[in-house]
Amino acid sequence: LPQEFKDAQPALKRLEDAGHEAYFVGGAVRDMLLNKPIHDVDIATSAFPEEVKRLFNTTVDTGIQHGTVMVLDFGNGYEITTFRTESTYTDFRRPDKVTFVRSLLEDLKRRDFTINALAMTHTGDIVDLFNGLSDLKKGIIRAVGDAEVRFTEDALRMMRALRFSAQLSFDIAVDTQKALKTLAPNLEKIAVERIRVEFEKLLQGEKAAQSMEMAVHDGVIPYLPGHLENWDLTPLISDLKIRQPQHHQVVWAHLLSRSSLQVEDMKKFMRLWKTSREDIKAVAMIAPIARQIDQASIFDLYRIYSYRNELIEVLQLMGTATETIANIVHMLKTLPIKQSSDLAINGNKLLARGLFNPGPELGRTLEKLARAVLLGEVNNRTDSLLDYAKELISYDKN
Ligand code: ATP
Ligand code: MG
Repeated sequence: LPQEFKDAQPALKRLEDAGHEAYFVGGAVRDMLLNKPIHDVDIATSAFPEEVKRLFNTTVDTGIQHGTVMVLDFGNGYEITTFRTESTYTDFRRPDKVTFVRSLLEDLKRRDFTINALAMTHTGDIVDLFNGLSDLKKGIIRAVGDAEVRFTEDALRMMRALRFSAQLSFDIAVDTQKALKTLAPNLEKIAVERIRVEFEKLLQGEKAAQSMEMAVHDGVIPYLPGHLENWDLTPLISDLKIRQPQHHQVVWAHLLSRSSLQVEDMKKFMRLWKTSREDIKAVAMIAPIARQIDQASIFDLYRIYSYRNELIEVLQLMGTATETIANIVHMLKTLPIKQSSDLAINGNKLLARGLFNPGPELGRTLEKLARAVLLGEVNNRTDSLLDYAKELISYDKN
């Protein structure tokens, strides 16, 4: 067993010693069998949440109404979730009711895909009630049970099918794909945040291009936020055939570099996807420069300094010549200042010399000084900068 599971064995044993069933479940089991890196080790148990809490010293109710308790007794935190069923999805997204049950079978039944419905005992024996092992071997994403029923219960599963297909280079089973095509419009009802998580993972997947082609072919695109149906996705998909972004901000910066949107519309688009302010700021900086790298002035590169790795990654995705990228890397490394606070002068000093009154003019002058330093027109020294500022003032007056 990989170390991640060994570390968690005592948690399973404690549950079993108390007379409950307990298994490793979900993504960690799947990834172990695929020899992929293991993320969170999740545990499912027949014990009810109150019983789990009594058995461990330190627990946090991370999602107790859904049956999840985080156990902190063993160094790492483990999410222990009571076997449960989900019923009556009246809104195509969240179950109206979760019911705790004592049967592993019932719990595995509600999971999305056969490869995600595998369980493992603390000794490493696999419990495979839905032929997940066979699908894992064949490389197939297949809904547990009737795909149409499962996608009607929770439309997000369609995005997850495309996401796992991209990440694992798996095909989607015929009936599962057929259901996807039929029910894609239900994606409109899903919370944007949930779709975004899957979409970001999809585009970082090894087979992102293939999954995006599927999304186009199966009619998923019009039901995603941002009106992507009006875009020409061909250049994006061609880039993704060669390499894939490794960072979620790069996902967006790359996508938008391959759009025809102006900066303000890029921001609107990101807001429709409910990305964070921080991501919007970064992407609005990177995407326009990546799109027009030949015309990009050194001043823009100065502004992008804190996002340099992301910019380089987008340029690589876009197939920019290695030489051009090397030049930009060099330029970024040798910039005389990397941010405005590197200037040997600041607003207070300018005010102290009585050169300015507080106000917008001051900020504009600091920007001009930064630009002049970057372009080699003035040295980054306080006296030189003061002289230069005086020149700017007399120039403006004349
Ligand atoms: P990752 O490595 O990306 O975390 P994962 O398979 O662990 O992949 P999670 O979103 O962490 O995915 O979910 C954990 C498990 O919960 C899944 O393996 C699956 O069994 C189940 N699951 C998650 N989301 C759904 C859903 N929308 N419908 C049904 N089952 C789900
Ligand atoms: Mg997971």
